[in-house]
Amino acid sequence: MALPPPAEALPTLAGSLQALRAELPSGTRLLAVSKGHPAGVVRQAAALGQHSFGESRLQEAAAKQDQLADLPALDWHFIGRLQANKARAVLRRFGTIHSVDSLALAQRLQRIAAEECLAPAVLLQVKFRPDPAKAGFDPAEVRALEPALEQLAPLRLRGLMTIAPLGLTPEERRTLFRECRDLADALGLEECSMGMSGDWREAVAEGSTWVRLGSALFGQRPIQG
Ligand SMILES: *Cc1c(COP(=O)(O)O)cnc(C)c1O
Repeated sequence: MALPPPAEALPTLAGSLQALRAELPSGTRLLAVSKGHPAGVVRQAAALGQHSFGESRLQEAAAKQDQLADLPALDWHFIGRLQANKARAVLRRFGTIHSVDSLALAQRLQRIAAEECLAPAVLLQVKFRPDPAKAGFDPAEVRALEPALEQLAPLRLRGLMTIAPLGLTPEERRTLFRECRDLADALGLEECSMGMSGDWREAVAEGSTWVRLGSALFGQRPIQG
């Protein structure tokens, strides 16, 4: 009869974090995507020195943030589709928004941030390949909007975010990530939020400054939604 594997053979959060930290270059930061995981997992990661967390649904995130209110200085990033009617609540709860996918949304965030005396960092989500499942600017649209994008204060436009569609080869993903890096550079933007559990090494090779990792860090998400 097969014995269960010894406990030390299972990847632990501490082990995964340590391995990632060893492999990420100094210019690439780790956004721990805690969506689908309970607050206790965030608490555990925070105790291991991880402070930046990504969430994609406001309601789920808000509940967790309230449970973690005793922890100082967690850095929350919103990475999901942002509906206009959630803009104010997202601004109050997140210091960085990766998923600004239209000029109308950017301007709405700008107006509300000014009212709330907030100056969040924002990234524009760009779609470099057709992908009906995802939102995002067309790259040409971002170039054409450059003058308008310089007028977004108090939003601090820091960079671009992209998600590689399913079904690309590793080489095709690298080409896509390179296009994102090139567009950010052309716009004078520092941040490229690119790379998830299945493709972060390719994104890092092309100049990602934020990898957004969920399952590579925390395992399968127990909470579906
Ligand atoms: C869920 C999610 C991630 C993390 O996905 P994993 O494959 O679990 O690493 C990253 N970015 C966005 C936008 C997501 O929604």
